[in-house]
Amino acid sequence: MNKTKSSPKHFIRSIASNDIERGVYEGLYTRFPPEPNGYLHLGHAKSICLNFGLAEDMGGRCNLRFDDTNPEKESIEYMESIKNSVAWLGFEWAHLRYASDYFEDLYGFAVQLIEKGLAYVDDLDAEQMREYRGTLTEPGKNSPSRSRDIKENLDLFARMRAGEFEEGSYVLRAKIDMSSPNIVMRDPIIYRIRYAHHYRAGDAWCIYPMYDFTHCISDALEGVTHSLCTLEFQDNREIYDWILANITIEENLLGDKGRTMPRQIEFGRMNLEYSLASKRKLVQLVNEEHVSGWDDPRLTSLEGLKRRGYTPASIRNFCAEIGVTKKDSVIEMTVLENAIRNDLEASAKRVFGVLQPLKVVITNYPEDTTESFTVKNHPKDEEMGTRELSFSREVYIDREDFMMDPPTDFFRLSPGKEVRLRYGYAITCDDVITDDAGEIIELHCRYDPLSAKGKTADGRKIKGIIHWVNAADAINVETRVYDRLFTAANPGAADDFIALINPNSLQTYADAKVEASVLHADPEDRFQFERVGYFCFDSKDSASGKLVMNRTVSLRDTWAKQQR
Ligand code: ATP
Ligand code: MG
Repeated sequence: MNKTKSSPKHFIRSIASNDIERGVYEGLYTRFPPEPNGYLHLGHAKSICLNFGLAEDMGGRCNLRFDDTNPEKESIEYMESIKNSVAWLGFEWAHLRYASDYFEDLYGFAVQLIEKGLAYVDDLDAEQMREYRGTLTEPGKNSPSRSRDIKENLDLFARMRAGEFEEGSYVLRAKIDMSSPNIVMRDPIIYRIRYAHHYRAGDAWCIYPMYDFTHCISDALEGVTHSLCTLEFQDNREIYDWILANITIEENLLGDKGRTMPRQIEFGRMNLEYSLASKRKLVQLVNEEHVSGWDDPRLTSLEGLKRRGYTPASIRNFCAEIGVTKKDSVIEMTVLENAIRNDLEASAKRVFGVLQPLKVVITNYPEDTTESFTVKNHPKDEEMGTRELSFSREVYIDREDFMMDPPTDFFRLSPGKEVRLRYGYAITCDDVITDDAGEIIELHCRYDPLSAKGKTADGRKIKGIIHWVNAADAINVETRVYDRLFTAANPGAADDFIALINPNSLQTYADAKVEASVLHADPEDRFQFERVGYFCFDSKDSASGKLVMNRTVSLRDTWAKQQR
């Protein structure tokens, strides 16, 4: 496997190094904070590589923290999958944490705010709340509950927790400024009532803290120094700082007292062309069964990419390649594909595989003879060794390598023409056998016994070289070849992204043939089918007796050309 490129210097790294040099923080501490409400996708990989990668590079630490404060949407299944994906990418967390572990602390900090006169229980309904909030151009106005006294607020908040009220009847709000130009600061809700079962906390709670309240406190409790998030949280930085400035954390989870508060820094979201990087939209694709599941190899979920044959190194290299900037970006698909091509070009074993087999009978080759050619497993890497490629009277070639009526620039097989079977002999097509419907079912060819090892006895040049598989010991595999899932570059921006699904995004070759050596491979092995592309075993549908292989990526980027 390729080594991961070291992450380039980017603005967050400069800020963090600078903070540490100036002695603001003793060392770097980051966290990756997913909500367990879906599976991770390539966008998350960017955040993972940034948070864990920066900690690795700077001798710091990084936590994996589940931001699990929306009980209705979260589950153990998502949580487990997220843990697996982070580990699969090759990162180790310093601590595994859950915001739900802090529910009691968070409640205590909310009480602190109430006691300081900085939070109040409000009974406006959702519509009134909107009305009172104001707009970008108009200030909001104070809720009548804003002047509720501290004692009554404490009592109501305790009763919210005790389950005395219906959902939606009361919320706890921070008392900040209803005329702030930053709408986030107009007395944001910090707790709401939800009678929902939490996948970890069970039914212990019927009030749940909001993101803006939970996130900054979780960071501070864990001793995080740099809290990296995507650009849409820019306006939330003010509330992040406000909450931390107005509560007192006696001691954090590291046992530190009076530690410096964490600092939020925003970076641009990553979007990949022809794909979706939103958990919500991915959920729709899966639930409406437009794809086979979360690990459908056409998805850019990390589970999908893994099943498709992407290696962790290729994804880390992709993230290093795209970098970290202050702007949202749309990355071309070829950047991702080149990341895995570079990896597999160096590491994949070369084999022969034929997706659409066409039988060739070599009429002048003896019937009960088998010979073999010693071939390299990799053209450049001697250490990958050699293998024996068997050859006998019947072989399969790809239907695409034969044409009945070829144009002049077709150098592969056609009636009366000669072609070389790669690593083997030259053959000439004498006869084309068709069935009643006129479909070609077999070719009868002659071989030149003096044409082994790439040479001919009379020195004649053979232009076309094609791949093949010995019919006697070929293995049947179902191969799946994928194309982009969407026909538009930015499906996420469309009203109806479902209508943009590419109907030809999966092509199945049920009767493909591969050479026998593949049978002895490791399930994790990757292959280059020479002239065809890079393949891996499908981890889900492959079983003994039925092999399924996925094409990870083509050998070259031919897609752009086809579109012209
Ligand atoms: P989604 O909209 O897909 O659910 P999210 O941001 O809500 O994404 P979280 O689980 O909250 O998902 O994300 C965890 C972390 O990953 C956050 O810090 C978030 O900013 C980051 N992240 C999510 N999507 C991207 C992306 N496309 N590019 C970069 N970082 C991302
Ligand atoms: Mg989120």
